[in-house]
Amino acid sequence: VSTGLVRSIAEIRRRAGEARQAGRTVGLVPTMGALHAGHGALIDRARRDADLVVVSVFVNSIQFDRPEDYASYARDLREDLDFCQARCVDVVFAPDAREMYPAEPATFVEVAGVSDHLCGRFRPGHFRGVATVVAKLLNIVQPDIAYFGEKDAQQLAVIRRMASDLNFPVAIVPVPTVREPDGLAMSSRNRRLSPEERRAATALYRALETARRRFAAGAEDPEDIKRAALAVLENEPQIRLEYLEVVDPEEMQPVDRVRGSVRLSAAVWLGSTRLIDNVLCVPSERPA
Ligand code: AMP
Repeated sequence: VSTGLVRSIAEIRRRAGEARQAGRTVGLVPTMGALHAGHGALIDRARRDADLVVVSVFVNSIQFDRPEDYASYARDLREDLDFCQARCVDVVFAPDAREMYPAEPATFVEVAGVSDHLCGRFRPGHFRGVATVVAKLLNIVQPDIAYFGEKDAQQLAVIRRMASDLNFPVAIVPVPTVREPDGLAMSSRNRRLSPEERRAATALYRALETARRRFAAGAEDPEDIKRAALAVLENEPQIRLEYLEVVDPEEMQPVDRVRGSVRLSAAVWLGSTRLIDNVLCVPSERPA
């Protein structure tokens, strides 16, 4: 296949609609571009499941809480097209800002509860921006299946809740986090790290894994689990911690005692770059 580039809403609607009419399933992978192997895992999964694979590339201004982060976000559509071509994507939908937001939007999707903690607490308006653009993309493409990475676990929870509450006729499929060989979760923001910061960044996943082992050893007090992670992070002076929480995996609320599965989620800063990561802890890892 040769990957097509579509810039307009009318045209992507026509292409996806045609496929649906012909009884073909449509899979959507929403991204902000600067594609890497993490996105690649979502695309590969879509390629296995769906007949028409659409990758959207859109840097969504309304989900950024810092203008400088939006301005400096990596953009290279040529490279993204080559990446998609190599993975047999059918269509890249890359609208410009005026196509998606021809006027200041007056309507927003707000998902209460799941958005309250973790990133939601530190990035005001972020999940409202995410939920709103994903609602638009789902309405534009009308996919049967849409793919989201567990790397952004709170985002995944927000989208799932939105799709369920608002009856979007779509299956939301989670895809496990893809990591560098040293454990760092792949992210478009990793390319902003200096070599020193890149080296220090590995402490984030090491800290979460250390905490997960405390959970696996039977720890029930979230403070006890967090302390294990903090001990690792404190050894890396380049890292500034934004948050570290033990939350329930559906509602993303901090727990005061561990019952069943929990997710350990953290956000850190390295210089002016913010990184997030999380690991899922399941009871089957614990002693009986
Ligand atoms: P982004 O372009 O960063 O907005 O990410 C687009 C999609 O790719 C989101 O669903 C992310 O969760 C997912 N994603 C980003 N990085 C990774 C990764 N390292 N592993 C798995 N999924 C990822």
